[in-house]
Amino acid sequence: MTFENLSLIEPILRAVKEEGYTHPTPIQQQAIPVVLNQRDILGCAQTGTGKTAAFAIPVLQLLSQNMTKGPKHIRTLILTPTRELAIQINESFAAYGKHLSLSHAVIYGGVSQLAQTTALRRGLDILIATPGRLLDLMQQGHVHLNKIEIFVLDEADRMLDMGFINDVKKVVAKLPHKRQTLFFSATMPTDIIKLANTILTEPVEVAVTPPSSTVDKINQQLYYVSKADKKNLLQYILKDKAIKSALIFTRTKHGADKVMRELSKNGTKALAIHGNKSQNARQNALNDFKSGAIRVLVATDIAARGIDVDHLSHVINFDLPNIPETYVHRIGRTGRAGADGVAISFCDIEEKAFLKDIQKDIGKAIPVVAEHPYLPSAESIKSELIALEMEKLAKKGKSNSGYGGKKFGSAKPAGAPATGKQKSWYGKKTYKN
Ligand code: AMP
Repeated sequence: MTFENLSLIEPILRAVKEEGYTHPTPIQQQAIPVVLNQRDILGCAQTGTGKTAAFAIPVLQLLSQNMTKGPKHIRTLILTPTRELAIQINESFAAYGKHLSLSHAVIYGGVSQLAQTTALRRGLDILIATPGRLLDLMQQGHVHLNKIEIFVLDEADRMLDMGFINDVKKVVAKLPHKRQTLFFSATMPTDIIKLANTILTEPVEVAVTPPSSTVDKINQQLYYVSKADKKNLLQYILKDKAIKSALIFTRTKHGADKVMRELSKNGTKALAIHGNKSQNARQNALNDFKSGAIRVLVATDIAARGIDVDHLSHVINFDLPNIPETYVHRIGRTGRAGADGVAISFCDIEEKAFLKDIQKDIGKAIPVVAEHPYLPSAESIKSELIALEMEKLAKKGKSNSGYGGKKFGSAKPAGAPATGKQKSWYGKKTYKN
């Protein structure tokens, strides 16, 4: 299947070619004809599958084939959960629509609204927005949605996770009843299906392979390592010149800063992005990473959501996420649209339970790199096990605080390994990758 088979108009075909796309991705093959037929869509697809083009291309075509007369008004609204995604979607509209005369703009919070209201006043065909800033500008009278023809709800499940569902409902309430709606979500939990049922009319369902199988082509590697040695292992791994660009994930903002500082201290230029950074700092870091000015970007899950870096060679999970789906989302940043990618995960003793859940979710064991300089030693295993047990006991102690200050008797906590013969917590079944 080629883009020519999809009945696209010449200016779009030319733009797609200039982007270097040769074949539509599966979600594009499925969604483009349905949107062009003016049907609603319930789409199950995650970032990295080419879903932005799957809605942007036919939306541009429908709008340009039916240009309205008179002053410009917003004809399409795309609602997306994060600023980074909003910016990327806007860039996609610019790329695919560059030979058309449709205008578009993006609005999101965390920055001055002046440039956004100026763009709105000038008149637009397509508005890309995050929910908070959109509602804000609607309340101020800068945005009117009464002439929307096509509404796209992007990453609906993430909207739910981030607590935006009521905002989404408020926006939907202001849309005309007669409209085309395209609904995309990476997962379809019950709440999302309920929401979809309230805003879609006889939708056509399109779905690409569920997230876990889309990551099959990514080369996944697992490094068992003690918590204390993670930073050393990271330095060691980053020496590999094959790592052209690495997006490193940490569980916390504090952790991201710490990793970034550690890398910088040791001569690796790196930046961190997370919720405590200003929008400008985040965008600058992202631009530096995309342009190749820095090779390493450290990020938390929320900040990295939707980051689209062409040809990202490596994802490194400095910390394993406690939600399996997050693992799939993270490693999906690499291996985009058919490209190869490597996903490296560190696993310390505390993260073994997370690993178990992840492997269950993706339906396979992540290949273990059995030889590296920071394999946990018996000593480090022992002290980590003890620390872990102490922590557990301390927690238990806290929750039992009304229990008359009972002391934990044994000097060696229960579960701490006996000296002498020890079983490795990371098991024996390892092989070289
Ligand atoms: P998305 O799922 O929309 O975040 O897109 C993921 C990446 O795939 C982006 O970098 C797009 O530029 C790229 N992409 C989208 N469609 C195609 C295609 N048909 N061929 C090659 N790359 C594509």
